[in-house]
Amino acid sequence: MPSLSVFGAQWGDEGKGKLIDLLAQDADYVVRYQGGANAGHTVVVGGQKYVLHLVPSGILHPAKVNVIGNGVAVDPIKLLEEIEGLRARGIVVDGKNLRLSAGAHVIFEHHRLIDQCAERWRGEGRIGTTGRGIGPCYADKAARTGLRVCDLLDPSTRRARLRAALAEKNELLLQVHKEKALDLEGQLDQYTALAERLRPLVGDTGKEVRAAYRAGKRILFEGAQGALLDIDAGTYPFVTSSNTGPDGIAAGASFPPRQLDQILGIAKAYCTRVGGGPFPTELDWEKEGTPGWHMSTVGAEKGVTTGRCGWFDAVAVRYALDIAGADGWIVTNLDVLTGFPEIRAAVRYRVAGGETRDWPAEASSVERVEPVLTSRPGWTEDITGVRRYEDLPAAARAYVEWLEMEVGTPIRMLSVGPDRSQVIARGLKPW
Ligand code: GDP
Repeated sequence: MPSLSVFGAQWGDEGKGKLIDLLAQDADYVVRYQGGANAGHTVVVGGQKYVLHLVPSGILHPAKVNVIGNGVAVDPIKLLEEIEGLRARGIVVDGKNLRLSAGAHVIFEHHRLIDQCAERWRGEGRIGTTGRGIGPCYADKAARTGLRVCDLLDPSTRRARLRAALAEKNELLLQVHKEKALDLEGQLDQYTALAERLRPLVGDTGKEVRAAYRAGKRILFEGAQGALLDIDAGTYPFVTSSNTGPDGIAAGASFPPRQLDQILGIAKAYCTRVGGGPFPTELDWEKEGTPGWHMSTVGAEKGVTTGRCGWFDAVAVRYALDIAGADGWIVTNLDVLTGFPEIRAAVRYRVAGGETRDWPAEASSVERVEPVLTSRPGWTEDITGVRRYEDLPAAARAYVEWLEMEVGTPIRMLSVGPDRSQVIARGLKPW
């Protein structure tokens, strides 16, 4: 099984970074295929914490090839900052272990400015964008006015396309957003210098990955954000600008879909949500002493995410795994639930006209559902040191098996703490 897709099956921040870092031990290639530097994967190795934004998590292992595919929106400033940050901590990053697709779209300063200005106009309808220019970059890709890495590296294409882009964007900045215009020559100088620093990493990464697969190398596709933030399958418009699950791999990594051998979703044992938008099982997470506050505090959700927490939502995860065609899933943050007298989860939704196990097609309907919660007894034992499934408290096992039954897809691994070593295998297929 030489290719594996690992993706978030909730609203992001499921702990993908940690699991991908772990699974990367067996991979030869780790490939990002969508999103931008808005995703922050946190990986803890031997007590050292690394936050990765654009660079795939395999960078922390020597001898892995890390690929930023053509579907990623690349901010050269952020990418170079991240590379320098890793190098400063003694990690080797060069054109051998980090590859950047010549076809990836570039985020420019005008994208960041427009992203931040546009959010101001949305008022109540704010979608909680990170303001890093990713949405406007993808919008320009679809409008065919963007620049790819290969365009940035070619002097005449770079000048012609950036001139045309700024002619329009400067009008938008000046007339609509009442901001200052950007100077073409200044932008060309800045981005040319950045592009030259990236040049050693650039290549036809789709071809490289396809050839590696044919040669029997193991390829791990690393999803960012989560299925419910997918631009097509998620709670539109409160979504990210790309296809986050295995649906994004074919286009974003130029990899044939029929060569995807195994698909695994990742979900927390409860639920969190990044940004605005519907969240059926959301709890009050600000009031001290409440279950939501406990998740938010013990799970250290504030800061990493916006802090919004709630009970596990089996309807949402069932849907996310179904559209992905997942072979299995991994539950993270089980340790955060230790100490709860009872643990609840949504198994169905109450909607106008009855109850359903199905995810509603539109975000506006998701806003109107009422979760039907069922509960199981909790446990008090510290589980962060447990490494074998049978050593978990009986109540923890009962909770895990209940989630598995409700979701209807096998749970292949459990995570009981942030460190790479804090996992419990549960029949993960070799790949
Ligand atoms: P990602 O974007 O899906 O990679 O998720 P993040 O890395 O942003 O957020 C997950 C957070 O949870 C990070 O701070 C991780 O170190 C931490 N984490 C991951 N797995 C576990 C776990 O099983 N238990 C606990 N307590 N924390 C975890």
